[in-house]
Amino acid sequence: MTAPPLHLTSARLIDGTGTAPLEGVTVVLEDGRIAGVDASGAPIPADAVQIDLGGRALMPGLVDAHVHVTAFDMPRASKGQDAIVPEVRHHLIAAGLRRMLRMGITTVRDVGAFGDDLLHARQAVRLGAIPGPRILACGRIVSATSPGGRHFDGMYREADGPDEMRKATREQFRRGADFIKIMTTGARSCELENSSPAQMTRAEIATVVEEAHRMGYRVAAHCEGLDGTRLAIEEGADTIEHGLELHRAPELLDELTRSERVLVPTLSCFFHVAENLDDRWAPRLVELAERQRDDAHRTIEAALRAGTRLAMGFDSQPHGQSALELVRMWRAGLTSMQAIMAGTAGSAAACGLADHIGSIVPGRVADLVVVDGDPLDDPELLLDEARIWLVFQAGGAVAGAGLDSDLASLRSAAPGTDPVPALAGRPVG
Ligand SMILES: [Zn+2]
Repeated sequence: MTAPPLHLTSARLIDGTGTAPLEGVTVVLEDGRIAGVDASGAPIPADAVQIDLGGRALMPGLVDAHVHVTAFDMPRASKGQDAIVPEVRHHLIAAGLRRMLRMGITTVRDVGAFGDDLLHARQAVRLGAIPGPRILACGRIVSATSPGGRHFDGMYREADGPDEMRKATREQFRRGADFIKIMTTGARSCELENSSPAQMTRAEIATVVEEAHRMGYRVAAHCEGLDGTRLAIEEGADTIEHGLELHRAPELLDELTRSERVLVPTLSCFFHVAENLDDRWAPRLVELAERQRDDAHRTIEAALRAGTRLAMGFDSQPHGQSALELVRMWRAGLTSMQAIMAGTAGSAAACGLADHIGSIVPGRVADLVVVDGDPLDDPELLLDEARIWLVFQAGGAVAGAGLDSDLASLRSAAPGTDPVPALAGRPVG
């Protein structure tokens, strides 16, 4: 038995394509997809199933094109406390994914994970065992033998020379990757790496791209220094991750625009280290992040001039706050409409899924967010849990303040604390 069509009425439609918002729109969802968009104000059938959005903003679900779902700090037991077992990690991954979905993030592209935990989580989400965004995984990151391979133990597949690169790429297909991620330069987050020169050779990059494309996979390229960025663009990588030095080579931005490829600027990762709130980062890396943050802002301005398609990649923590990247792109010079496009259709394009998600167009999958307020007027609303009113995943309402009952406020304010004392180690009798 198929569910009847659901009519979302009185929507303020921000469809993700950049079209000016429309008031009083009805969007019809059927079989998990968008079946119709009607701005004519025509009455809907009296017996139709409907949700009156009351003028709230209806936009595509957010897509984070650059996340590391499994890269968070595990809580640590105090000295003398029972150790926190590694298996708890899986539950914490699930909690992060649930949090993302609650904040309207309906798809994520994970560009680097430790071991296979992320692949397991992807399966659990697909099976409906845990709520979470749709996950695209890269398996291991394909990299040259490098300090990062040791620093990010379990996240990289190191390989050298075209033949090894081809094998490393094929191994990711075997592992179940959705796309391939390569390190064309070193990483700013590893002190032993110099992120300026190209770390892979032109032949190595060309081989990975050729093998991936031949087999129907896209390639995401980590790019910091300009030399590696240039090689990635010239050899056909599909998305440029970070790409902060591109403002020095406007011809490369023009090439991205011409070939309709996507830049994922990840401003937030530079803020994350530059602000260094807890003094945990090596001073040299903090200084580097400050410089790179300036570069990344200049590149956003140059990309706007070049008309390059941008995507929202938070590349930071905490999970669920990906829209902070959207807000930062807005502050960096995008209009609020451009920033929302980056967080929806732009990121969908980065995932290679622009024909399926990221815009509210008949035929697309009904991954949607209803926002209480106007995110075009104030994008920061997207960071406020109370304003994320309803989240739809493939046509079903799965999260949001609108689903919480009046009793929701009675929920425990401090989950994880139990006032009953532990029994072990106490006097008996
Ligand atoms: Zn990253």
